[in-house]
Amino acid sequence: MIIEPKTRGFICTTAHPAGCRENVRRQIEYVTSQPEINSAKKVLVIGSSTGYGLASRISMAFSGRAATIGIIFDKPASGKRTASAGWYNTAAFEEFAKADGLYAKTLNGDAFSKEVKEKTISLIKQDLGKVDMVIYSLAAPRRATEDGTTYSSVLKTVGNSYTNKTIDLANRKVSDITIDPATEEEITNTIKVMGGEDWKDWIQALKDADAIEEDAVTLAYSYIGPELTHPMYKDGSIGKAKDHLFHTSQEISRELGIEAYISVNKALVTQSSAAIPIVPLYITLLYKIMKEQGNHEGCIEQMYRLFHDKLQKDSVETDEDGMIRLDDLEMLPQVQEAVMKVWSTISDETLEKDADINGYWEDFYQMFGFCISGVDYTADVDPDVKIPSITE
Ligand code: NAD
Repeated sequence: MIIEPKTRGFICTTAHPAGCRENVRRQIEYVTSQPEINSAKKVLVIGSSTGYGLASRISMAFSGRAATIGIIFDKPASGKRTASAGWYNTAAFEEFAKADGLYAKTLNGDAFSKEVKEKTISLIKQDLGKVDMVIYSLAAPRRATEDGTTYSSVLKTVGNSYTNKTIDLANRKVSDITIDPATEEEITNTIKVMGGEDWKDWIQALKDADAIEEDAVTLAYSYIGPELTHPMYKDGSIGKAKDHLFHTSQEISRELGIEAYISVNKALVTQSSAAIPIVPLYITLLYKIMKEQGNHEGCIEQMYRLFHDKLQKDSVETDEDGMIRLDDLEMLPQVQEAVMKVWSTISDETLEKDADINGYWEDFYQMFGFCISGVDYTADVDPDVKIPSITE
């Protein structure tokens, strides 16, 4: 069939297999053109199908020559519905890994569940013995726990409401938006979904099963950003969950004896960040400035830099709080001053000139395999693509 993008709000309900494959191929091409990563060799990536998790898996596999097990929560094609982008990305990843002689297997299911943890541990024990790196890169709207309760996360402020500019990306309009504060219950639930509890459960389960090396390292990702996004992010409900994630990293290191780090990454267009109010306008200005200054990076450049430069086998570069800072370029004074200057004047009239809206849309569509040069979108494609290691 001919597959076209169908957008609804900030998601695209279709994905293109050939485009997603090309996306993965380009990321592999990037990391293999750089000096090799010398780090862990048996890596579990939880949330490995898109965004930072996919880029982590690609970096560790194709540059680090690591065996990887990925946990995804994606949908195969069914009838006239295409598979999700993460499904196609994973199919392509496994295809390229196999061609390159790399071990790569994937489990599709809810990473929060006990069942997926158990299946993953059996697979590790059967194929790898133990893992020496665990990357926790989940971004989830909800979490169902074993007792049948479902918790939902919210993207709201904490304490007071906050008004600032936001962008309607479809109509290219700037307007004011007021975000209301989360209730105590909403904050608790957001922490339950996006905090560190499940990360710690994973490491505990791996330890109990003797499926993790003593000198293994584990990582989760966070964001801090500039002051204008703080009420929405760092000091908001998601920020409370990220604080919990940070404290959990300390607990994992101290109580479980596995070195755990938070890597603070750059704000980028991913399926998760598109849903946060105010942040997408900031991203369009940030992209414009960073591209002009020549220091713009996408997920793959960030993750390659994480594993090649910041987190080496015997040395980890952190700030005074112990966090790895990949937002170092985003937070450079020359970048932030330029963004803040434009932020104060941005309006419908200046949007085309000052914001990289085209770059935003390009990244957005590319996440679903569209708008990628060299891909023939007029060709008839079979949406039913198999992930080699998944038999469903
Ligand atoms: P993403 O939406 O691209 O990736 C999230 C991944 O989690 C996907 O592979 C998805 O399938 C998987 N997932 C979600 N629920 C799952 C479940 N129940 N079971 C198994 N897999 C599940 O998002 P991303 O932006 O790459 O986010 C990854 C992490 O990076 C998050 O912790 C996020 O907060 C952080 N981060 C993102 C940004 C940014 O700007 N995008 C910046 C800094 C940090």
